[in-house]
Order: sequence, then structure tokens, then C-alpha cells
Amino acid sequence: MNDLLPEQSALWQYFEGKVRNLMARYGYAEIRTPIVEQTALFSRSIGEVTDIVEKEMYTFADRNGDSLTLRPEGTASCVRAAMEHGLLHNQTQRLWYQGPMFRHERPQKGRYRQFHQVGVESFGLEGPDIDAELILLSARLWRELGLMEHVTLELNSLGSSEARAAYRDTLVAYFEQHHELLDEDSRRRLTSNPLRILDSKNPEMAEMLAGAPQLLDHLDAESREHFASLRALLDAAGIDYVINPRLVRGLDYYSRTVFEWTTRALGSQGTVCAGGRYDGLVEQLGGKPTPAVGFAMGIERLVLLLETLELIPDAARGELDLYVLPMDDAAAGTALQLVEQLRGDMPTLRAQLHCGGGSFKSRIKKADRSGARLALLLGEDELAHGTATLKFLREERDQRSLARDALVDELHDLLA
Ligand code: ATP
Ligand code: MG
Repeated sequence: MNDLLPEQSALWQYFEGKVRNLMARYGYAEIRTPIVEQTALFSRSIGEVTDIVEKEMYTFADRNGDSLTLRPEGTASCVRAAMEHGLLHNQTQRLWYQGPMFRHERPQKGRYRQFHQVGVESFGLEGPDIDAELILLSARLWRELGLMEHVTLELNSLGSSEARAAYRDTLVAYFEQHHELLDEDSRRRLTSNPLRILDSKNPEMAEMLAGAPQLLDHLDAESREHFASLRALLDAAGIDYVINPRLVRGLDYYSRTVFEWTTRALGSQGTVCAGGRYDGLVEQLGGKPTPAVGFAMGIERLVLLLETLELIPDAARGELDLYVLPMDDAAAGTALQLVEQLRGDMPTLRAQLHCGGGSFKSRIKKADRSGARLALLLGEDELAHGTATLKFLREERDQRSLARDALVDELHDLLA
């Protein structure tokens, strides 16, 4: 679980700002839910035989003896909240959320025990148009962050639950023929969750898995058509994708469309965004049948990717424009008023006031260390003449004396 220090949090704010702006432009509204839920919500939705529920949840008994869990993902909470507040009665919803998620995994680069996701969920829409919209929304985010050429869209369809049940038998029969090649995890999953075996990263099983029957060849007619329409929509929109017939996702609630955006730039933690359709989940959790589709992306991995590829603009690093420096204690009051006035007149100005006094030398040092581009100096002379001295902290330029009422125009020009 990481602390996020100021240098990093500026990068996060850059990313989060892009996301917030994008969601508004697509008409998605934010939902915020608690970080703890009843444990049963997750075991029932994500599935008992998944990595998350089997070994990754932070679960504890609260003082009443209720079993609670720190949320390992956002979809289940979102469905719970939407049902609880009647958001699904004869209406569609386009929602998004962001926040911390908790999974007791082995920490490594791109994989943490508290991590953060941005997620999007849409309820009440069953056609492939909304699936396409979600993919286009994510694609626009990559484009606006400069990431598009560094990510690949992988796509698959899991079909209806009936088709999946029939396929499951075919798959189990195949795995039983190759029982000696299955690792321990897979043997365990053979009866409980055989589709997850397809997701195994064990290189010794790769060849056997490559020969396994494919779910895409066993889709029901409606899912086949849904998938074909989605592909047509993406083709028409100019979105490239790769069909990955072994993409099954680690959570049980998915049906039909599943997708992942992956990158090669982060080593093995390459999935930056993942999602799909979960038409059965609302009903499974006690609501009316409600088609739904969503995705979640990992903020740590995306910020890491932006840093690795040097795609964070300087302006996003949260640096100061201006350090306002009273040269002695007599100028402190005027400096305070001046910087307040500037903040009022220039709402985007990032200005810091020197506080805490000090010798002349130490004041100048603090101005230099502030990272600001400009400093405004106020001393005895400036007080007497109604001026301020403008000093360039990061450029070889002569300092200048300016009338205080001309400062706003001058700063506007300099910082434009
Ligand atoms: P992975 O295959 O990488 O374990 P997952 O299938 O468990 O991913 P999801 O539950 O679909 O992941 O979560 C969506 C996204 O959240 C992932 O693609 C990833 O970017 C991010 N994510 C998941 N688990 C972690 C983690 N422990 N630390 C950081 N980011 C994570
Ligand atoms: Mg995982």
C-alpha cells in the first residue's frame, strides 16, 4: 500500500483531470460508494472460485460480528448501490467511479495491495452500441493522453450462460484427455471453474491450451450476432483490435463481450483497462434482469505508463508560477495583500507567499528552491515607490521593477 507524495500526486491529478473531463463529455455521472461492503456481496458476484475471493480479499468481522470486506473491485458495489436506490427501475444509467481497491496479492511493479481504479458501468442497455461506446470512450482517453500507439485492444465474446455451460462440458472433456499436463491449480479448477484454466499463464501448459476448443466456435446465435455487430461498429469507427479467444477475465460475472487494453511497455503487468458485459449480475444479486456492461482501469499502471513513456506535460507537474518574497519583515503585510490580490485577479495563477521570515540570503534561497518561474520581491524601496521587483528564477534575464498596478498585465503576458 503506497503513500502518494506531492510529486506523484501532481501526475495523478493530471490523469484524473483528463478522466473527469472525458466522463462529462460522454454523459456519465459519478457514483461514490463506501470502501467496505458485506463480504457476501463480493463472493456472490465475483465468484467463489476466483483468485480474488479465494485468496485476495481483506475480510474481517466488525464489532457486530458481521463479515465485511474492503472492496476488491467496484462493479459489485455499483450494482448494490444502484439496486438499493432504485436507479435501475425502468431507466438506463451511465455511471463512473474512482477510488481505492484492496487485494492481498504479491506486491510487485504495477501490482499493489491498495490500488486505484477508474471504472465505468452502464445499466439497462443490451445492444452492442453501448459496448462500442465504452471502447470508444477509453480509446479517446488513450488518444488524449498520447497512449494510443502503445496499447492494443483485445476482444472476445463469452456468449450466453447456456452456451458457456455447453462449452464447459466440451472443454472439460478436452482437459480430461490432457489431465497429465494440467498443473495443480488447473486440476482444482477442472470441476469448479474450468474456463479459468484458459487464463493460466503457466508456460508448460501453453501448447495444450492453444489446442483447446474455442468458446468463439460455441457461441449461441444471439451472442454471435451481438459480437459481429460490435465488431462492425468498431471497424466503422476505425478502432483496431485483436480477437483473443482465450480472454476469459478473472471474474465470474461476465457474459458476451469481454475486452482488455494491454501494453508491452510495463513488463508482465500489461493490462491497463479491462471489462465486459455482465447481463446476469443484477438478477443474480436479487434485482430484475438488467443488461449491463463496464470496465475498470488501473490508475497506478496508467500513471506508470505515462511516466515510462515520458508523456506527462511539464504543465501537469504542478509547478509554481510565482514566489512572492517580502525582503524584510516590514514588507510582509504588503506582500500578503499583493499575492491575495493577484490570486483574485488571476484565477489560474499558482503563487506561493514566502512565510517564516529569515535572513535575506535564506529568503532568496527559498525562492530559488520553490521551483517557481518568477519571483516578486518587495523591500523598502518597493514599498516606498509602489513597485515590485520581478526576478526570473529559471532564465538568464535581468530583473525588472514594475508598478504594482501593472503587474497583472505583465504576468499575463509572461505566463501565457
Ligand atoms: P490482472 O490480470 O493484471 O491481475 P485483473 O484481471 O485482476 O488484472 P481487474 O480486476 O479486471 O484486473 O482490474 C482492472 C484493472 O485494474 C487491471 O487491468 C489493472 O490495470 C488494475 N489492477 C488490478 N489489480 C491490480 C493491483 N493489484 N495493483 C494495481 N493495479 C491493479
Ligand atoms: Mg488479478
